[in-house]
Amino acid sequence: MKNLWEIGTIKDIMTRHGFQFSKSLGQNFLINPTVCPQMAEYALSDGATCAIEIGAGVGILTAELAKRAKKVVSIEVDSALLPVLDETLADFDNVEVINADVLKTDINALIEEKFPGEKVAVCANLPYYITSPIIMYFLENKAKIENMTVMVQKEAADRLCAEVGSRESGAVTVAVNYYAEAEKLFGVSKGSFMPAPKVDSAVMQLKIRSNPPIEVSDEKKFFSLVKSAFSQRRKTAANGISSGMGKPKADVIAAIERAGLDANVRAEKLTMEELARLCEEI
Ligand code: SAM
Repeated sequence: MKNLWEIGTIKDIMTRHGFQFSKSLGQNFLINPTVCPQMAEYALSDGATCAIEIGAGVGILTAELAKRAKKVVSIEVDSALLPVLDETLADFDNVEVINADVLKTDINALIEEKFPGEKVAVCANLPYYITSPIIMYFLENKAKIENMTVMVQKEAADRLCAEVGSRESGAVTVAVNYYAEAEKLFGVSKGSFMPAPKVDSAVMQLKIRSNPPIEVSDEKKFFSLVKSAFSQRRKTAANGISSGMGKPKADVIAAIERAGLDANVRAEKLTMEELARLCEEI
């Protein structure tokens, strides 16, 4: 197999296949040989035997997953990459590339069809323009996976892996924490990609929880409350909840106080338990 991290190899493949990078599809391909083996090791160290990849690119991470997993399914939206991948993944008979938009793919049906009885990890160098939507798509659909081991922009990793109740936390931090335990694994410099993005990246892992860390009677209401509470970052949670959920501010403040919280509290100060308590009082 060719060294897919070598710029010369990638350029040669691109020229022969007439392939051009698409900025709008977030195509920053990895050219650092140490990153993909580490990502694949982390993804498959959790009892997972098979892997789903999002966005194969020229197949550098796909190949590392294929070396370690029983089977890999890679979902790649750009059909221009299919002939490239036919060439770069020719050595593997345990890889299937599906030409589809991951956000339009029924993930649980795919897992049932392609990986019956197996434990599955998701591993990807995510297209940065839809990092959170992809992560939330897997979590909200309760995809039957063990973990998501993904490369994201460093700032996104900081936000997603922040402690709920800390200054860096946001609505997405709470949502991620509800479904998974998030950990930042290692940083990756912008020079590790071709073309180089403007910012550094980080690899993080979400280990899927078997049960949420808090109990809420209405999940939909809980996430609506969280989204509203964080919607006006410089204002109090009461302001955000009142406008986001369309409730009189006095009623929201009364509920906040019934939950044993300060009426002027800001969303980023609230823990998972406090948000759950507040949800029951609203
Ligand atoms: N895995 C390769 C690597 O590490 O070099 C490529 C990573 S590149 C950051 C992101 C990949 O995701 C691109 O190949 C892009 O075409 C693909 N992609 C973008 N949007 C997608 C979507 N909605 N569904 C599936 N793949 C997508």
